[in-house]
Amino acid sequence: MRARRPSSPTSLLLFPDKYREAFAALGTTLEDQGVQLARVGPAAYRCFFETPFADGRRSLDLLNEPDAMAAQLEGVEAGAGEGYSRFLKMARRHLDMGVPYFIDREFEELASARGLRDLLPFLPNLNVLDLLGQHDWRLKQFFRDQRLRAMFTFQDLYVGLSPYSAPAVFGLLAGTELTDGVWYPLGGFAAVRDGLRRAAEACGARVQAGAEVAGIATDAAGGRVTGVTLADGGSVPADYVVCNRDLPAGYALLDPSSSSSPGSSSSSGGAGGTDAAAAAAAAAAAAASPAAAAYGRQQHDRLGRLKYSAGVIAFNWSLSRRIDDLTHHSVFLSSDWERARVSRARAGPPASRTAAAAAAPHSRAAAASGACCRCRRGCWPLDAS
Ligand SMILES: Cc1cc2nc3c(=O)[nH]c(=O)nc-3n(C[C@H](O)[C@H](O)[C@H](O)COP(=O)(O)OP(=O)(O)OC[C@H]3O[C@@H](n4cnc5c(N)ncnc54)[C@H](O)[C@@H]3O)c2cc1C
Repeated sequence: MRARRPSSPTSLLLFPDKYREAFAALGTTLEDQGVQLARVGPAAYRCFFETPFADGRRSLDLLNEPDAMAAQLEGVEAGAGEGYSRFLKMARRHLDMGVPYFIDREFEELASARGLRDLLPFLPNLNVLDLLGQHDWRLKQFFRDQRLRAMFTFQDLYVGLSPYSAPAVFGLLAGTELTDGVWYPLGGFAAVRDGLRRAAEACGARVQAGAEVAGIATDAAGGRVTGVTLADGGSVPADYVVCNRDLPAGYALLDPSSSSSPGSSSSSGGAGGTDAAAAAAAAAAAAASPAAAAYGRQQHDRLGRLKYSAGVIAFNWSLSRRIDDLTHHSVFLSSDWERARVSRARAGPPASRTAAAAAAPHSRAAAASGACCRCRRGCWPLDAS
């Protein structure tokens, strides 16, 4: 067995406008910061099905071009082409409403007066069942075949949900893939990160990477954050603290003594383990007020009692031959799909087969000809001898 470079351009960029807005907020553009986005095409993905269609077809492509997509679906189910046009309109409506109302908003704001006011313009065109009804069930109005419904609801998995329990508003994920498009940043996500860093630094930001946060500091009343304390003993004053740690572990930063409890174990940094970390934790504990520390401990303990599971199991395989049927991204949908989803949600008997996704980088020759994901880094050749 020979070692191969495992990293390949597998990450895809969704919601491109969100990235454009972030750069615009810094007074610049993606292009000015050297970030080029290429739309993945002609299909966003290829979906493989365990049970073939009547004509023997085992896979369908999520094509960017709506007419081609409708024609493809009509070929496997009479009426599905027209159903697709109606589905796409609904998915786009959900997207136009869901981005400003759900995605751009802080959780607490959803039911606030401002949140509800922002929802008003969309209400005349919204069907509550289409928004809040079970996702798979709502798609029955467009597609009779369960495989087709799975093809347009598997995106619920991105946010850890099941189409058999998620509300249909999550159709906005398929909506952005099929209307805004699925994109690839040339050079990978590192190009986006570097561009964002350059733009932020040009605005005067100072980026300090590799610094472990040991605790979040608050004022004496515990009502406002005042900054963070670092594991090396330093501190950074701040008016706002954006904490991207897993949520239970994030709350533990208000009371670092709670980080030995369930739910705080995070592979992504943390304050436990070493003497230095223990000392930093003690310092950090003093940085948050007793009220804030108690709140952090309570939230951490509450979330720690939930049942945790791995969202993803990832394999990196290097093959000695090329598999031509695979596109840049392929999704494998099990015929046990419903049971797979339901058993996970209800702790029933495990499904024998589940859904999987594969990202397959193409050859250097394909990259050069523009036929692959156009990463321009020379995708790792699957067919190398
Ligand atoms: C298999 C897989 C494939 C995916 N594919 C895609 C894709 O194609 N496209 C896409 O858009 N998204 C994809 N995602 C999702 C994407 O990776 C996440 O949404 C994204 O990384 C979340 O970013 P984040 O900054 O919120 O959190 P994270 O990426 O988890 O970053 C949190 C950071 O905080 C650091 N940290 C934690 N504790 C501390 C501490 N005490 N002090 C200092 N630092 C700390 C961690 O080290 C980490 O770097 C994928 C996810 C998985 C698992």
